[in-house]
Order: sequence, then C-alpha cells, then structure tokens
Amino acid sequence: MTTSHYQLLPSVDKLLQNPKLGESLEAYGHADVTEELRAQLGALREQIARGDSRLLAKLEAQGFADELCVTVANRLATTRGSTLLSVFNLTGTVIHTNLGRCALPQQAIEAMSKAAAAPSNLEFDLESNRRGDRDDHLVNSLCALTGAEAATVVNNNAAAVLLVLNTLAQGKQVPISRGELVEIGGAFRIPEVMKSAGCELLEIGTTNRTHLKDYRAAISPRTAALMKVHTSNYEIQGFTKTVSHRELADLAQASQLPLVSDLGSGTLIDLQKYGLPKEPTVAEVLAEGADLVTFSGDKLLGGPQAGIIVGRKDLIQRIKDNPLKRALRVDKLTLAALVAVIDLYRDPHRLGERLPLLADLSRSVDEIDAFARVIFGPLSTALEGIAAVDIVDCKSQIGSGALPLDLIPSKAIRMRPLAGANGREESLQELSLRFRRLPKPVIGRVKDGDLYFDLRCLVKPEEFLSQLEEL
Ligand SMILES: *Cc1c(COP(=O)(O)O)cnc(C)c1O
Repeated sequence: MTTSHYQLLPSVDKLLQNPKLGESLEAYGHADVTEELRAQLGALREQIARGDSRLLAKLEAQGFADELCVTVANRLATTRGSTLLSVFNLTGTVIHTNLGRCALPQQAIEAMSKAAAAPSNLEFDLESNRRGDRDDHLVNSLCALTGAEAATVVNNNAAAVLLVLNTLAQGKQVPISRGELVEIGGAFRIPEVMKSAGCELLEIGTTNRTHLKDYRAAISPRTAALMKVHTSNYEIQGFTKTVSHRELADLAQASQLPLVSDLGSGTLIDLQKYGLPKEPTVAEVLAEGADLVTFSGDKLLGGPQAGIIVGRKDLIQRIKDNPLKRALRVDKLTLAALVAVIDLYRDPHRLGERLPLLADLSRSVDEIDAFARVIFGPLSTALEGIAAVDIVDCKSQIGSGALPLDLIPSKAIRMRPLAGANGREESLQELSLRFRRLPKPVIGRVKDGDLYFDLRCLVKPEEFLSQLEEL
C-alpha cells in the first residue's frame, strides 16, 4: 500500500464544503457533521491499510466524495434525526393509541403554533393585571356545550379519574360494579387507579348483573362517592343488568354522596348524525344527574391528549384546590389546541369537514374505494414478483375503546406475499418491514398471512404513492 492511496481521501475541510452535506450542516451543526466525517474517513483508512481492492478502485472513481457525503448524511439522519415520525395509519383502527390517536384540525395546529411562538395570557388576567387561571380559557365553551356548572382540564383522562378520586375519596370507599372494573390498554386499570388515588374500591354486584340494591347495601359512613365507569372497550351481553345514571343519581342524592361518571371516550355530540352508533353524550350523563363526568380530549372528541372534568361547581373547586392538580395540569400547547377544537363544536354544521377524526369516521366506502383505485395500479407494479395485490371489502374499528363492537364498512388493499426463498411467513414479515422503513412509515395490519392496508384514513394517496419507489 502506498501513501498515495491515503492522499486520494478528501480532507474534512473539503468535504464540509460539499453541497450534499448542506442540509446536514443546517440540521445537526458543524461539530456532529465533522465527527461523522472523521469516523467515515477513519474507517476508509483502515480499509486502505487492509488493501481492500474494491475500495482502491472506488477511490479513484468520479463522484467518490459525493458518495461519501451522502453516506454521512444518511447516517446522521438515522442516528441524529428525530425518532418521532409521521406515519400512515392504515391499520383499520381509527383512534390508534400507539400511533398517537388522531390528526388535529388545522385550527388547533395554528393555535398551538401561536401559543408556542410567544408568551401568552395563559394564567394572567389582562383586566385586573393579576394572576389568572388557565382553565378559564375553556370553561365557558365546555359549560355551554355540556350544561355543566364548571369545568377543569388535566393531562389525560387517566389523570382526571385519579384526581377526582383522590380529591373526593382519599382514605374512604367507593363502590363500583364488578361489571365496570375496566382495564384500558397500557396499564390503566380502575382498581389500580383507585389504589393510587388512596381510596378503597368496594366491588359490588356480579360481572353480569349489578342492581340498585347492591349500591344501597354498600353505602356506609365510609363511602365517599358512587361511581360509574363506561365499559368502553368491551360489552357484556346476555343476562345482564346495570344501573342507569338516573337511578344511581337518585340514590346518591338521597345519601348525600356525589355521583362520578368516567365516560372514557366522551362525546359532545350525537354521533348518529354522522352515521355512527349511539354513544351517551357528556350533556346527557350530566342531565341524568351525574355530579362529575370525566372524559378524554383525544378519543371521540378528536382533540389533543387531555382529561376533561365537568360538573358541580363546588366539587370542581375542591378538585382545583388539590395540590395534585398542579402536577397533572395541561400545558399551554395542549390547552391552545383544546380551546380551538372545543370552539369547532360550537359550529356543529361545519364540524364534520373540519375535524379530521369525524372526517375519517364518516368517510364513505365510495370515497375509500376511490383511494384504493388510485393506488392499486402503481402498488401492483411496485410489488411485482413480491406480492399479489387486490382490493377487498373490510371493516374499520373506531378504536381506543370507543364503541368496541361497532365496525364501519371500508375498503382495503390486500397484499398476498409470494413465497420467497425463506417461505411465505418470512416474505410477509419482510414486506411489512419494508413499508415500515419508508421515510413516512406505512403501518398496516397482518391477518391470515396477508398484509392489509385499510384505506379509511389514507387522505393523501399521492403522498403514499410518492415514496413507492423507495420500497
Ligand atoms: C380511555 C379511557 C381512560 C383513559 O383515558 P386517557 O385519556 O387515554 O388517559 C379512562 N377511562 C375509560 C373508561 C377509558 O375508556
């Protein structure tokens, strides 16, 4: 090996001038780009020392420096780029918790960006020049939409339930029907939340049947509240009995106890107007006599992650006075987004087109079929020799425990992998991985040995098509 081979390696200073590193320099800065360049050059020197003949040929070729810079840029993008990526949710589950639930409406995105860009009167009363309350930005709208006397907002609905129970029932008992001891995915279990809140769960009734007399018998001087939990992700069918909010509200009132209802998804509007199944609204549950209702900001509401608590003014005040509220409060970006989303609900006529969640849930099969036809041809071509592609009927789920048994008709692209050298299962995994490794990963669903893309939430077929060649 002669020293001349080493001299063929471009210098770091020269490479830093290469336009192919311009974006990396802008994104990651001089120090990281230089470090990565040195690492790559070091590896090349070792190859030269070993007398790697393929490298020696490449060193003299035109464009070697460009190629090196592209390698460096790619490595920086994988090691230094954000790991939080936008994806296509083609799983068929519209509100997918692991995929960050739904896209926010444009109005919310703009509100967040404004709140991020400058200081605001988040907790500042402009009239009196005194400290204000961040909840105030939402209270009027929430009360108008639900009929509640008061409202407050925390980080998510799990936090809302924790805070309500800790405020009303620490060191005391709360009876709950055995049929409502819900576990929501990701470690939210009602019995465990109650324990963390410092209150004692009193299980009453049976899994399938709980009567008013069960609640009545459970009430003692140690009882702090009555509670109902919406069985959002399952349904008990057959020989069943549950006690309605109204019946329970009468008992609670006679016993001078508050009635708390965790609605989970919680919707503010009658979803039947959008061709979706009936789900109790927050206003209905309050009208039936619940004293406090908790629900999510990012399930059926279609907003940012948040937990909303509405109901009686005196109880909301106690909640706001709890020091835990400070630990669980929403940040200004979430608040800005939530205010914008709640505002959209005040104009129900335009809600369907403005709220991405509702647009996704109410998209017609014809429209989804049109997406399928746009991508079918190019996708079949891209997967030639890899998988057989066709368009099939399928059913989407709402997800996140909302209306668990109700499925909405939809259309999917089905990809049936051809058996490769390592068998069909291997080809399926490989195919699914290739889609997940695209710049905007595509997440589908594997069923019976095939890969499905439910196109209900596709929205931008051209964006999907534009990255097919990288497959
Ligand atoms: C989803 C759900 C929760 C948790 O809500 P997050 O906003 O996801 O924290 C709590 N209770 C019920 C009944 C739910 O369905």
